Amino acid sequence: MIINRPEKPAGLYIHIPFCLKKCGYCDFLSFGGSEEALRERYARALVRELSLNKERRSVDTIFIGGGTPSLLRADHIAEILKAARAAFSVQEDAEITIEANPKTLDQDKLRAYRKARINRLSIGAQSMDDQLLAFMGRAHSREDFLRNYRSARDAGFENINVDLMFGIPGQTRKAWRSSLSQIIGLAPEHISFYSLQLEEGTEFARMYRQGEMDLPPEEEDRAMYHEGIGMLKEAGYIHYEISNCARAGRECRHNLKYWSFDEYLAAGLGAHSFRYKQGRARNLSQLEAYLKAAEEGRLPVDEDAYERETEKDYMGEYVFTALRKMEGVSFSDFCATFGKDFFQVYSGSRKALMDYKARGLVELDETGFSLTARGIDISNEIMAEFV
Ligand code: SF4
Repeated sequence: MIINRPEKPAGLYIHIPFCLKKCGYCDFLSFGGSEEALRERYARALVRELSLNKERRSVDTIFIGGGTPSLLRADHIAEILKAARAAFSVQEDAEITIEANPKTLDQDKLRAYRKARINRLSIGAQSMDDQLLAFMGRAHSREDFLRNYRSARDAGFENINVDLMFGIPGQTRKAWRSSLSQIIGLAPEHISFYSLQLEEGTEFARMYRQGEMDLPPEEEDRAMYHEGIGMLKEAGYIHYEISNCARAGRECRHNLKYWSFDEYLAAGLGAHSFRYKQGRARNLSQLEAYLKAAEEGRLPVDEDAYERETEKDYMGEYVFTALRKMEGVSFSDFCATFGKDFFQVYSGSRKALMDYKARGLVELDETGFSLTARGIDISNEIMAEFV
């Protein structure tokens, strides 16, 4: 497989799989109701896993995600970051993010994060409507979020992301606009907004199947999305990825790696990594097996999940992820990465792209192509052309 890209600093994702309780819609690898002793054991296993890494790879973003990383004690987070700094060459100006649930934050924790040189906080507000929060099974209230948002600013966080959801059963467009405008009023540097999806195995999927819950119609969901983008742009945010807006220069550097075919490393339960030479790998996702492997000094990689992909797979992923960015696919970058002209590989897709362009769904010129606002609504169909 030929990937011509020069080695750049990688991102590092660290997974913390514990939450206060499981939200009704969530299918992430996370568990509610854990004991402090188990979380402590997990933190030690993570430190051990990180210490097994000997390559000293240069890293310029770290993302501590979950689950709810802020459920761990702050001193455990500091130890994990210390181990990451010992294992990798973490750049001075690295973007270091931690995800937090408002119910699990307080001033001391936020100050401890700053002391550990975490410089970006991602808070899962999801909604500013207490009834909807309760319906979704969220552990926090609007007031919990507002209190901790202010505390984060007081603690010195100058780069905050707020996660919001729309298309929640029972949510009106007015309620969505109200949540979003309250968040815009706080002026976070970054806002992520996701449409609620029904995922197999979740409580919401069960409720839907048994007729206990309705989803908003597709047109309503799309209307909320476009209304949200309009409000964010009007407030001066840049819409840089399908579900993400930021102030100029505050785009999430870590997540951009996923959408830019950059390499990332991973630590923690079920975490995924991607390296050009080795392909994609995944850590063990059974908690006891992961803990045991790390405690015994073995890298907790799931050998069965190791993927060695073909060049065609890589190209498809490149296009699929690049299309999530509003700047879309660059033909020159594609060629620089794979050493092949885009239409030499996707000659059969030229006509489809021209048709999408004629229908106002993509913008296409000699430099590349991207989705238009209407194209985003059928992004899966357009992306499927390349995978
Ligand atoms: S807090 Fe986040 S990770 Fe945890 S259950 Fe809720 S949605 Fe899932």
